[in-house]
Amino acid sequence: RPTHFGFQTVTEAEKIERVATVFTSVAESYDRMNDLMSFGWHRIWKDHFVSSLNPGFSPLASGLDPRAPQHILDIAGGTGDIAFRMLHTAHIVNANPDVRVTISDINPAMLTVGKQRSTLLPASQQAALSFVEANAEDLTRTTPLSSPGTANPPTSAIPSASVDLYTVAFGIRNFSNIPAALREAYRVLKPGGVFACLEFSKADAHPLFNTLYKEWSFRAIPLIGQLVAGDRDSYQYLVESIEKFPSQADFRDMIIDAGFVVGGQGYEDLTGGVAAIHKGMKP
Ligand code: SAM
Repeated sequence: RPTHFGFQTVTEAEKIERVATVFTSVAESYDRMNDLMSFGWHRIWKDHFVSSLNPGFSPLASGLDPRAPQHILDIAGGTGDIAFRMLHTAHIVNANPDVRVTISDINPAMLTVGKQRSTLLPASQQAALSFVEANAEDLTRTTPLSSPGTANPPTSAIPSASVDLYTVAFGIRNFSNIPAALREAYRVLKPGGVFACLEFSKADAHPLFNTLYKEWSFRAIPLIGQLVAGDRDSYQYLVESIEKFPSQADFRDMIIDAGFVVGGQGYEDLTGGVAAIHKGMKP
């Protein structure tokens, strides 16, 4: 089926291949480039995203067992920024060590950088982390992050109704079939489980700000990509993919179509809509 890769129309299979090329190319420079491109704002958005989800917090008044083990699935988890914050909040801030996180990503190069970074975490947090390779559109086929050269790694499914919290940050706009990924999110979540997405969005409520933001995105980011990472094309794609991603309200409607219940308007704008958080609950 046709989809888009930046501003080009491609098949779903072509998009998967080309997105893989982008993230394999940017994996080593990804964390540094994020800081440069967003002036460090991505850290503030990620901190806010994770603290708004408050993983590991189970107030006694809620009737939940405060020590009930929780499984967080961080989809398109890349180099681990969300997963590491989740573990810190759950284990340290909420003093709840019974929270484990699976980082899942289609790209082993990104996961390998994440696994390397995770060696700096406390041992108890490392023990609560696992890394799997999977396409978010089909979580019935995951493989553990394999050492290079491992032939025929075992394949397993993320079971239905096994996940308490599904997170995806700056990943979903790269998917070829977003409704399929939302259906998979719905399948793997337990009833009462939460889908939470942090993604670039539309900042068009403030025209002057939006013009400056677009100028920065389309002129500066590909240039920085060329100068710092030696890769203009990948960063051009990343900017175009933001432009092609649906508006806050349209994406909220896709989440509802997948069966989730949303509260209020269903999303929260960050920095004038440059990014947005969407949440939905599986009833
Ligand atoms: N979540 C991390 C963060 O916030 O820093 C990484 C975000 S990075 C911009 C996007 C990630 O989405 C990449 O690691 C890429 O490999 C992954 N990705 C793209 N298509 C995917 C798919 N179909 N299934 C799973 N992951 C995918």
